[in-house]
Amino acid sequence: MSTTKADPIIEVDDLHKSFGANEVLKGISTTVRQGEVVAVIGPSGSGKSTFLRCLNLLEAVTSGTVKVEGVDLTDAKTDINQVRQKIGMVFQHFNLFPHKTVTENITLAPVMLGRMNSKQAAERASELLGQVKLSDKADARPAQLSGGQKQRVAIARALAMKPDIMLFDEPTSALDPEMVGEVLDVMKSLAAEGMTMVVVTHEMGFAREVSDRLLFMADGLIVEEGDPREILANPQEPRTKDFLSKVL
Ligand code: ADP
Ligand code: MG
Repeated sequence: MSTTKADPIIEVDDLHKSFGANEVLKGISTTVRQGEVVAVIGPSGSGKSTFLRCLNLLEAVTSGTVKVEGVDLTDAKTDINQVRQKIGMVFQHFNLFPHKTVTENITLAPVMLGRMNSKQAAERASELLGQVKLSDKADARPAQLSGGQKQRVAIARALAMKPDIMLFDEPTSALDPEMVGEVLDVMKSLAAEGMTMVVVTHEMGFAREVSDRLLFMADGLIVEEGDPREILANPQEPRTKDFLSKVL
């Protein structure tokens, strides 16, 4: 363990989120530090996706605060779009634009948002495709790709904006088993390069080997959090024990 702690990059304080009368997040508080990889696990319906979506305000927060790089996302004066550009998100279903090529999928946002001209964006796309080992697919369309390849394009697309933080919501859950590894490998190298990552996952091997911290969520709360190896080997809370007994 390092003795110097990196700066907080995401600070969540008493986050509540309701959909109508259904309170889905019931007071989440946690801090993610620069370069940290946080894995989020827990039963279906426990609020993991909602939590992730609150971190870039894809969902409006009901109460509590979420700060990213010191900026309070819940403050009406905050320019949410500017904050969102610092956060890349990868979903279970890749959500690629079907009629665009791989390169166009990656260059679209940076060019539309005026972050890069087309030449810069194309260079960046080519570099990113190298990073996710898909240089040969630059001109392919999503339908011509396997699930694992699509997800690697989705990761490259999220990286195109040069985000400081990457959020992953079950990025390998929709993949055939033989393709899970290639996507996890890309995520591992991102983590090794120092990217700050919050990863909702069912991949306990990834959580154990790659994440610095594990959050176990149940019923809209963080029930247990800490060192992934310790929690996976020796969970303290009954709900964590119960969940892990079903998935490990
Ligand atoms: P998880 O990702 O852990 O499976 P979710 O965050 O997707 O859990 O969902 C938690 C609860 O919030 C579920 O009961 C779900 O039905 C509800 N929920 C999620 N999104 C919405 C929405 N947009 N509108 C209404 N209810 C929602
Ligand atoms: Mg979910």
